[in-house]
Amino acid sequence: MKAEIIAIGSELTDGAKLDTNTQWLSQQLTDLGVTVHFHTTVADDLGENVDVLRTAVERADIVLVTGGLGPTLDDLTRQAMAALVDADLTLHEPSLAVIREMFASRSREMPQRNDVQAMFPQGSEPLPNPVGTAPGIWLEVPRGDDRPPAWIAAMPGVPSEMHRMFEYEVKPRLPVSAKVIHRARLNCFGLGESHTEQILGDLTARGNDPEVGITASEATITLRITARGDTEQQCVEKIQIASEAAQQLLGHYIFGTEDEDLQHAVVRMLIEAGQTVASVESGTGGLLSHRLTDVPGFEVCYVGGLILPTESSQRRELELSAELFQEHGAISEAIASELASRCRLRLGTDYAIAITSDRGRGALTDPSQPAAYVAVAAASDVRVMPVLRLGDWTMHRSRTVKTALNLLRLELLGLETIRS
Ligand code: ATP
Repeated sequence: MKAEIIAIGSELTDGAKLDTNTQWLSQQLTDLGVTVHFHTTVADDLGENVDVLRTAVERADIVLVTGGLGPTLDDLTRQAMAALVDADLTLHEPSLAVIREMFASRSREMPQRNDVQAMFPQGSEPLPNPVGTAPGIWLEVPRGDDRPPAWIAAMPGVPSEMHRMFEYEVKPRLPVSAKVIHRARLNCFGLGESHTEQILGDLTARGNDPEVGITASEATITLRITARGDTEQQCVEKIQIASEAAQQLLGHYIFGTEDEDLQHAVVRMLIEAGQTVASVESGTGGLLSHRLTDVPGFEVCYVGGLILPTESSQRRELELSAELFQEHGAISEAIASELASRCRLRLGTDYAIAITSDRGRGALTDPSQPAAYVAVAAASDVRVMPVLRLGDWTMHRSRTVKTALNLLRLELLGLETIRS
């Protein structure tokens, strides 16, 4: 079963509005086990709308359309659907009554133009829209003797109206099997995408059940496991088997599940161990502190953070010597290490995380040199790690903070620091 999404509107093709409906609808269909093969965006032009509909019903079995159902002259979806199946538009009295009632309940007079929203291609079915004026349209399109018909569901462009219509009117009509689908996510840090795939081997092979896909975002690698089965229990078991296999292969690289990020993992581990942490940052605008204080319950383990963006503030607040900066430079292993150790002593914690990073102003003089160093100080030792600059500054800042959090996580696990 193939699906296509068509977003209609010149405000989409000219770039004035971002087409978020297609993304949302694709996620919904994917959750139902229907694969979306095509996304089409088309301007408000009748001939072109008919063309894209004709192409869509040839190559897809389910076609979801959004936009163009309004009362204005540039709303052409109903005309295009009628032209596609060579049908007339006819008035659907019950829909007209509902639209009139909608205007009356808002104490507004219904403009004549809104009549058009109660017009439907002959043979189609109106899809009620209790939260707006434009009903949707459900149309079966015959495709010749040897093929089953295609289905078109046209919905309003207004996202809230479309969401509701999809959920209550379109979803129950879709010819999808009653299979149960479950998804799970495992989050990893410290390996690249292709390296992860190499380690996982056959687990990520296409066509597996469950499927294991890999996505990367700011150096966090996420394994997305999708299981299909006849019962919930079957899906849960399949996911458990795949998760255990991934755990065996990736070990400590996996730090969490679902929405759990590195800061959640670190806070959880610190609370479990009854230990505390402080932070000192330069070049990250306090992002490390921001992420830690976003975690519910952080107060139990996170004592506080210093944001020391300049050499003078670092010298003044943590008594770093001018010679140290002269000898090593502000972005160096030595400065990161000193910042972490002194911060730990100053705030009286079990651990301290330090970041000294490039601020992203201007091009790097030598991209092969680290653009940041992160350090974690414990009572007995200090771990330091360089961070190369990959991507833009926003990305670099996020990766640097993650690398710092991961360094503490490795310390808490008692594992060696592996420089990747
Ligand atoms: P209505 O009659 O309720 O206006 P409609 O079907 O005519 O519905 P449009 O006029 O095409 O819808 O769009 C209405 C508004 O919905 C647009 O101004 C835009 O803000 C939003 N919208 C339309 N299409 C999309 C889309 N694909 N993604 C996100 N928003 C959209």
